[in-house]
Amino acid sequence: MYIHGVFARHIAIRKETIERIINQCCQANVKVLYPYVTRSLCNREYYDKTMPLLMKEARRRGIEIYLWTDEMKKGCSKDWEKHRQVRKSGSKAGILCPFDPVVRENYIAEILRLVDRYQPAGICLEDDFLTANAVVNDHLDIACFCKYCQANAPKDDQEHLEWNRNSINDFMREVKQRLIQKDNNLKLTCGAPMPYSYTFYLKYSPEKCRYRNDWKRFSDSYHYAGNDWKLWAERKYIDFILPMIYFGKNDRDVFIQLLDEMNAIKNKTHCAVYPLLGADWGAGNNKPQEMNWQIEELKKRKFKAFGLFHWGGMTPDHWMFLESKYGKNRPKFYFF
Ligand SMILES: [Zn+2]
Repeated sequence: MYIHGVFARHIAIRKETIERIINQCCQANVKVLYPYVTRSLCNREYYDKTMPLLMKEARRRGIEIYLWTDEMKKGCSKDWEKHRQVRKSGSKAGILCPFDPVVRENYIAEILRLVDRYQPAGICLEDDFLTANAVVNDHLDIACFCKYCQANAPKDDQEHLEWNRNSINDFMREVKQRLIQKDNNLKLTCGAPMPYSYTFYLKYSPEKCRYRNDWKRFSDSYHYAGNDWKLWAERKYIDFILPMIYFGKNDRDVFIQLLDEMNAIKNKTHCAVYPLLGADWGAGNNKPQEMNWQIEELKKRKFKAFGLFHWGGMTPDHWMFLESKYGKNRPKFYFF
């Protein structure tokens, strides 16, 4: 079992030196670096200067680059107000509408532009497509009601949901096709929200479940983000799955439940799965000992690799631990 990759969030990277970042990756035998590349959300200096140098140095040291893109966010459209998602109530959501053809074309065009500029080994899409009404108790609520959707989506709730699903699945197929047309070797993946299925919650009573502190505010991957990554894996729109299981030691029970769900999907889809362990976001203070426990649980289920999300949560202790567990050439001195 090895470290598949580590996500490098722009805000954390700004405070680091490139040399240190790449050294840490090399010493722990990290295979892939996922730098955050969405221009409109990045600090200018990071985008123009730090990131290109980071990628160059990573490649020079044998680390692959996958671009981590987030092109549905505010700032990614010139006509933000015109193309953002709208809730049923009429209030506006902080994300673009993935059904709107203008948004879709811009989204793909920007990814292709990034491919031209950086020649990555692959692309990793941010997990969220549909958030207007996504965080709900009632699944029928999930849909966008922007002008485009009002004019084009079916009026019936169930049909509207079906239209959403088909439309986002088609969109993923198109993203994959356009990437392949550009370069047949380009890989595609995305953040995979967990749980995949809503049945996950049936095991928990609301009082007991600590999942994200408030289980009612979270849902399965499709209803949370319009993200049917299992189907995308089955149809080969994505080349491997990165399930996001960001937990610390207070959530071992949830971690195991999700891992078992993930394991069943891995065995069924025959798609490579690299679970993302939380170093920071959503995981609280996930110390190296806990990460070690999680990695051992992954091993029991025969996962071949795991990823780390994200750079900002990794401390010198984490890197020391990973290096001792996975590094081939452990140096006598470790510089921090
Ligand atoms: Zn819409």
